[in-house]
Amino acid sequence: MVSAHPTTPDRLVDARLPDGRRVDMVLRDGRIAAVEPHRSDADAHGDTVIRCGGALVLPALVEGHCHLDKTFLGAPWQPHLSAGSLRERIAHEKVLREQIGVPVAERATALAERMVSLGTGYARSHVDIDPETKLSGLHALLEVRAALRDRIGIQLVAFPQSGILTAPGVADLLDAALADGADLIGGLDPAGFDADVDGHLDVVFGLADRHGAGIDIHLHDGGTLGTSQLRAIADRTRALGLGGKVTVSHAYALGQVDGGELDRTAAALATAGVAIMTNGPAGTMPPVLPLRDHGVSVFAGSDNIRDAWWPYGTGDMLERATIIGLNGGLMSDDDLTLAAAMITDSAATALGLTDYGLHLGSRADLVVVAATGVPEAVASHPERLWVLHGGRVVAAA
Ligand SMILES: [Zn+2]
Repeated sequence: MVSAHPTTPDRLVDARLPDGRRVDMVLRDGRIAAVEPHRSDADAHGDTVIRCGGALVLPALVEGHCHLDKTFLGAPWQPHLSAGSLRERIAHEKVLREQIGVPVAERATALAERMVSLGTGYARSHVDIDPETKLSGLHALLEVRAALRDRIGIQLVAFPQSGILTAPGVADLLDAALADGADLIGGLDPAGFDADVDGHLDVVFGLADRHGAGIDIHLHDGGTLGTSQLRAIADRTRALGLGGKVTVSHAYALGQVDGGELDRTAAALATAGVAIMTNGPAGTMPPVLPLRDHGVSVFAGSDNIRDAWWPYGTGDMLERATIIGLNGGLMSDDDLTLAAAMITDSAATALGLTDYGLHLGSRADLVVVAATGVPEAVASHPERLWVLHGGRVVAAA
């Protein structure tokens, strides 16, 4: 149990930094104003301090990929329906979401509030843009984002879940979504779903260029069909000078090809500044360590959290790091530290977050974790003791 805490503390006392130092962290105007060696608890009283007792402090966790509009959280449990194909799954999902009777905003809020309680300070959510829902999901999530802006920062990706070229009117809807407040343009298997790599990427990169938006493309296509599209995305990213603003989510192909094809593709991604997002699926997970060695930025997200795609998911990013570590064979402390970066610094960079981290002057978006070090936090995803957003306590154990 944690004792009563101030809403806006001016100091975290005896917090353990990732490098092991025990410090007092002075907070002012929602930022980190000083980091001093911890000397004694004797003068750390009053109702404006949080006593961490040597617990680990991390910068806010970053959810790099979720679907707030899809979750069934906030609604009664929904038994999972099996599907024989991607198109059948998408069709099932549309029926289920019609039947569920709980509005998008209510379900998305339930999930976002759970994320806050687990120490997530920033989330990138894709939102379906298709001929049926049009912009309704986006508009619901724009309202959720505004309502929760003091607790969590939310980026929205206009996501063509039903394709672009094969779904009439979607290209125009994506254009409208970016005009209405979506931050990024999404994509979906240019070859495997839309059967026209150049046509699909023409729309995605054209809209990104026109709106000054980032890009985040779902790519499930496997083997060399997938890696050839990764290199096509890297080529276009370089040509348009979009390095650092482009992500490919999943990229299963990277976990399925031989060494030469992996090296060639990883080099193209690193040179272009294309990041890879993984949720850590067994068997098809991109190989984190070789990609890191090539200089490719790899970060993590939950993807689906209790929705029509699968019944699993908690929204806990430390648990996600555990899953990635297990499925990726990450064992040493260095490996576990890399897994932690995938839900903190690397994800923050991929999301373009500024003022992020534990540095002087950074925003005080922090989570105090019941662990004595980063590897332990990844291995055991322990309790979140306090969560701060902009210097304000937004959750406590
Ligand atoms: Zn997804």
